[in-house]
Amino acid sequence: MRREKIEKIKKDLLDMREQLWIEIKHKQGEAAELRDAGVPDPGDEGTTEDLRDFLHLMSDSKREQILEIDEALDRIQNGTYGICEECGGEIKIKRLEIQPYTRYCVSCKEEIEKRESRISASEQGKI
Ligand SMILES: [Zn+2]
Repeated sequence: MRREKIEKIKKDLLDMREQLWIEIKHKQGEAAELRDAGVPDPGDEGTTEDLRDFLHLMSDSKREQILEIDEALDRIQNGTYGICEECGGEIKIKRLEIQPYTRYCVSCKEEIEKRESRISASEQGKI
């Protein structure tokens, strides 16, 4: 992969990372406000709990995204960036430009998603 492409992607990753941190801090601020505001009406308690759960889940997924970004930055550092972790093939630059922290090529990603949806479907079947 061309050096300047990688430099551009690296910059995008760093920007994304910063943006995610800002969003997490913002959401944490909102959650803290909710907590500090207390619950004026006992009838609203459920709603407030739901909102807190939602904010918590949201920042968790953002934290995961940050980890993905960090790993992508590591791969750039190690020179393994753009290589599919599943098949070892090269990930297309178009895909990396859209999703710079992806670990898999399109076909492997589709396979993995199919596998995961089968797993969750069978888990749901058990319940
Ligand atoms: Zn692959």
